[in-house]
Amino acid sequence: MAIAFPALPYSSDALDPYISTTTMEFHYGKHHKAYVDNLNKMIAGTPFENLTLEEIIRETSGEEKFQGIFNNAAQAWNHDFFWHCMSPEGGQPPKGAKLRKIEEAFGSYDKFCEAFVNAAVSQFGSGWAWLVEDKDGKLSIVKTSNADTPIAHGLKPWLTVDVWEHAYYLDYQNRRADFVKAFLAHLVKF
Ligand code: MN
Repeated sequence: MAIAFPALPYSSDALDPYISTTTMEFHYGKHHKAYVDNLNKMIAGTPFENLTLEEIIRETSGEEKFQGIFNNAAQAWNHDFFWHCMSPEGGQPPKGAKLRKIEEAFGSYDKFCEAFVNAAVSQFGSGWAWLVEDKDGKLSIVKTSNADTPIAHGLKPWLTVDVWEHAYYLDYQNRRADFVKAFLAHLVKF
């Protein structure tokens, strides 16, 4: 069975002006779709065809001969998760227990935001910045390169931002920090 290309949780103009309609049309409609299409071509007729996206990622992680499948599967998962980390009504800290856990880990929500921006900006080249929870329930900020994803390493993602240039270049050019700050101030949804 093929992996489905998931719907966006809002229309492609919903995050404008922080993420423009043009960026969404390319990022979701071309980049994300290509990862899903490539993955489906690569797994057709193989045992991976019968697995879920998460299972494919775990089975191929760190395996040189399956790197192409891993890259496309992980990028397909990361993008769908990223779209769900944003909302046109976003930009607020989480509430209740989630907020308390962030305050415990980072001192305050503002300090979390500062550390998250630093991670996103300091990721050299293409990749992702994440807020993750480990198996002991401890929160931390991590960055991953290229397609790599915390779900391949036993970590539970709470939040991510895509810092590949295709995520922000049309709207922010080289100003990656401005993109990540706008993501936190106007779009983030926990
Ligand atoms: Mn992307």
